[in-house]
Amino acid sequence: MFESLQERLGNAFQKFKGQKRLDEDNVREGLREVRLALLEADVNFKVVKGFVDQVKERALGEEVMKGLNPGQQIVKIVNEELTELLGGEQQGLDLSAKPLKLMMVGLQGSGKTTSSGKLALYLRKHHGRKPYLVPADVYRPAAIDQLHTLARQLDVPAYPSTTDMNPVDICRDAMVKAAELGCDLILFDTAGRLHIDETLMDELGNIRQACSPQEILFVADAMTGQDAVTVAEAFNDKLGITGVVLTKMDGDARGGAALSIKTVTGRSVKFVGVGEKLSDMELFHPDRIASRILG
Ligand code: GDP
Repeated sequence: MFESLQERLGNAFQKFKGQKRLDEDNVREGLREVRLALLEADVNFKVVKGFVDQVKERALGEEVMKGLNPGQQIVKIVNEELTELLGGEQQGLDLSAKPLKLMMVGLQGSGKTTSSGKLALYLRKHHGRKPYLVPADVYRPAAIDQLHTLARQLDVPAYPSTTDMNPVDICRDAMVKAAELGCDLILFDTAGRLHIDETLMDELGNIRQACSPQEILFVADAMTGQDAVTVAEAFNDKLGITGVVLTKMDGDARGGAALSIKTVTGRSVKFVGVGEKLSDMELFHPDRIASRILG
């Protein structure tokens, strides 16, 4: 992940080798490369502009970093600004609520169902939660089967949804069943479409209203780059998402979605999917990712 950006930024920083200090000329030259590297990584162009302006201002500002040469100074500034771009402080889930209700939303194929299973496993393993899985995509029988299969693999209960049921009724009844079973984590795996549409948004709005989830997690396929960011913005406008789960990071060499989504939507990436296995989910740590990008 982020391989090409890592390489390009490395080249950009070469420009500062042998320089005595950061000045208008070498900063402009070096940042031109940084800008190209970010655009090539499919980062949103407005985000790139804001980023480069900010780095430039700091690099040419009063800030004197004793003991660091110009190359090290620019790397330090870029590292800090990349961390901010990726969301700043690590944002996990607020686990105080019992039951904790997580509503998974996103386009079809983004990884919602898989991520529901992964989060169930993660929160059981690390926080001792008792999960209850709720298949609420009644339009694709395969989606219900898929979540039931994951539930069996994980040995956790799931709501017996069928395609003739109403998704809002499913979610409402599922909360009663989860309480009966003593489950303190409910994951609603909602329907996705290939594109955003009004009917779907209305349905998701109705589920949100009926269940009052603490988190509405937008699940996005990192490999779709800026499309993921545009769709996140639309879901956030219509539904008010609380965070992002970025899937398929294992296949995303560029990183444009991860680097743009916080600035564009104001919502942080909370978890990343890094493979197809149920254990392939990690908390998203902006500072670690920034350091990884800078090699
Ligand atoms: P949904 O339609 O949003 O519920 O998407 P699915 O959960 O069915 O996922 C679609 C495909 O993406 C499946 O083949 C998953 O195995 C795969 N997938 C999901 N998350 C990841 C991930 O983090 N990495 C990889 N490599 N594949 C993933």
